[in-house]
Amino acid sequence: MNQTDSFRHEVREWLEENCPQSMRAPLRSEAEACWGGRNYTFLNDDQRLWLERMAERGWTAPTWPREFGGGGLDREQNKILKEELARIHARPPLISFGISMLGPALLKFGSEELKQQHLPAIVRGEIRWAQGYSEPNAGSDLASLQARCEDRGDHFILNGSKIWTSYGDLGDWMFCLVRTDTEASKHNGISFVMFDMATPGVSTRPIRLISGKSPFTETFFADVRVEKSQVIGELNQGWTVAKYLLTHEREMIGGSGLSSAGTAPVSKTAIQALGTDNGMLSNTPLRADIARFEIDERCLELTIERARDEVKAGVSLGASASMFKYYGTELNMRRQELLMAIGGYDGLVWEGDASHDGHTPRAWLRSKGNSIEGGTSEIQLNIVAKHILGLPG
Ligand SMILES: Cc1cc2nc3c(=O)[nH]c(=O)nc-3n(C[C@H](O)[C@H](O)[C@H](O)COP(=O)(O)OP(=O)(O)OC[C@H]3O[C@@H](n4cnc5c(N)ncnc54)[C@H](O)[C@@H]3O)c2cc1C
Repeated sequence: MNQTDSFRHEVREWLEENCPQSMRAPLRSEAEACWGGRNYTFLNDDQRLWLERMAERGWTAPTWPREFGGGGLDREQNKILKEELARIHARPPLISFGISMLGPALLKFGSEELKQQHLPAIVRGEIRWAQGYSEPNAGSDLASLQARCEDRGDHFILNGSKIWTSYGDLGDWMFCLVRTDTEASKHNGISFVMFDMATPGVSTRPIRLISGKSPFTETFFADVRVEKSQVIGELNQGWTVAKYLLTHEREMIGGSGLSSAGTAPVSKTAIQALGTDNGMLSNTPLRADIARFEIDERCLELTIERARDEVKAGVSLGASASMFKYYGTELNMRRQELLMAIGGYDGLVWEGDASHDGHTPRAWLRSKGNSIEGGTSEIQLNIVAKHILGLPG
């Protein structure tokens, strides 16, 4: 057996022993995802066990170095792990902004102390992170942000506010963009800081959405103490860190609706809901739309795979993240439209967690935000036009 085969064998055996049966089914709704954090209540023992066992092996962050609690897997091994997880329909053990956004930035720009302090806790799902980027007058034009950290010798004092903070009320710590130099040009006076959201002076207020839920908050800072040791990268050079983190955020958002990320294939949902005629989905127009969707989905998955290979070979993901964010979110919105069509009248059921295979109109409405979060579709198209197609700005 060569090395690849023996690794696959080892992973398969380990998953067989350690992945609880109830965790071998796609997530039916966001409410079933495990987010971890200081105050997280596990839905059941299996969910807790699955997180603990995966974290123990570092497989919640499979490619992070072992010294920081990660799995230390190379790209090929990570691919095998993903394939084996998909084979048994295993749920992600942990959904975490710490893993998908902060971690990569910490690994690239953080000091040794900051990495040791934060990365192992992220791997274990102990701390839930919130993102403090947007402000009422700084969204697409993020560098206009005004939340301000004043230098008080050994620490800063932060005042200002953020908006659209996803799960701000559930966050334990926040990574946040603040202005530390008001004289410098707008991109130069920004720093990337982190603080505990339990620090006196931090408060949140829910924002209610069209879906009836409130997954994000306004976040206010009144004389909040921020330690100088919690700056990632150079003081006043946080924009570089912020942009790097955004490429990871965009890649994560673009890929989150894909079947390979643990959601049920649309065709499977359709067959379960509508049945088949001579082995084919009985609703012909829908069948064609679903086939087109799944071909496009597969193409995106393969293109993302290719880009990851290029990154491994030293090519920066850079502007490609905008392409993936745009196309991936367009696909996810198409997925939700299809699921609504498959559901028919049943798909309109508003109450309860699941109408068919976990889909609800709430998820359809939530998908509308995909074209805004992490940078709007228009902004992504601008970046693709300028930096990939080389069109004049
Ligand atoms: C579900 C969701 C979750 C979010 N989570 C977070 C979070 O956790 N933390 C956080 O900090 N933020 C978060 N955001 C905020 C998000 O990043 C911003 O909403 C986004 O960057 C857009 O900013 P804005 O809302 O101020 O819109 P604006 O920037 O005011 O844009 C308004 C409209 O103008 C268009 N526009 C603006 N500039 C241009 C241009 N140059 N060219 C063409 N069109 C343009 C935009 O595309 C948009 O259609 C979240 C948003 C959503 C929807």
